Amino acid sequence: MSDIHQVVIVGSGPAGYTAAIYAARAQLSPIIYEGSVTAGGALMNTTEVENFPGFPAGVMGPDLMDSMRAQAEKFGAKLITDDIIEMDLSGEIKVLKDGSGNELRAKAVILATGSAYKEIGLENEKRLSGRGVSWCATCDGFFYRQKTVAVVGGGDSAMEEANFLTRFADKVVVIHRREALRASKIMADRAHANPKIEFIWNTEVIDVLGEQSMNALKLRNLQTGEESEMAFDGLFVAIGHLPRSELLIGQVDLDLEGYVKVDERSTRTNLKGVFACGDLVDHTYRQAITAAGTGCEAALDAERFLAGH
Ligand code: NAP
Repeated sequence: MSDIHQVVIVGSGPAGYTAAIYAARAQLSPIIYEGSVTAGGALMNTTEVENFPGFPAGVMGPDLMDSMRAQAEKFGAKLITDDIIEMDLSGEIKVLKDGSGNELRAKAVILATGSAYKEIGLENEKRLSGRGVSWCATCDGFFYRQKTVAVVGGGDSAMEEANFLTRFADKVVVIHRREALRASKIMADRAHANPKIEFIWNTEVIDVLGEQSMNALKLRNLQTGEESEMAFDGLFVAIGHLPRSELLIGQVDLDLEGYVKVDERSTRTNLKGVFACGDLVDHTYRQAITAAGTGCEAALDAERFLAGH
């Protein structure tokens, strides 16, 4: 690994794989670090994706990622299922270190590390994580056959989780801090029409109760201030995501929420030869198709940068 690579892509998912497809077709021999546990990104934890163009019958999230991965590999991208754990992006030659201790050097780096689940921020949420508290219905829903579970959140993720959980649970209660959902109409309508789903409005979860595993939630009504306890077998937290930019602090410019700043309209960061795409950058759209689009842009920006050097 002592060669200087043209481009290293950090992170997979629609942005990273699309960048890899374009960079590979441009003969840049990209190396893509997919992540050791997060390979494929957030879509690996979803079920059916109904809105990715080209799939009128829908496509399973993991299948879509497998296809993008195979397409990148077909054109010569080198896929590595490991993490980048250290980076020095400041110089003309970027230096990256992976989880196996290999050091890589590259002229250009594309950052596509995506986002991670947001937590409510309660002490017991963390303590009971994996013991009743989960962020992924497709991963853990199976354990809640004939149980009663809560889903916190009012966006598309929460509706998707709630609908999916009704395959297993007898009752799914969506707890939302406002009276109106943020979710798209189609997802909201589907949840409202599902007889197994109930809603508790204007309410926040203030504690997760249970010793070995969770058995109840402490709730507060935000209009009346009234607090109550309600028994649940599981809690699924679906309140959005945060950019996975920890490794980049002190390297590239981030905004106040931790998203990588780019020169609009482009994927260029403040460092020459460093580009960023996908959920790591995007506050607004956060769709598989928009992530793929910016992955394409990052590869084109990197290609132009390399051609100019
Ligand atoms: P989101 O749209 O940002 O919604 C987050 C929800 O969680 C909001 O309802 C928010 O409440 C609530 N929330 C945030 N912080 C909270 C806290 N600390 N405590 C309690 N509630 C909290 O996030 P998302 O649902 O993950 O969706 C992100 C993007 O992915 C969206 O663009 C969405 O369309 C997309 N997506 C699409 C699909 C699909 O099309 N199949 C599926 C999943 C996600 P407020 O409403 O009060 O802010």
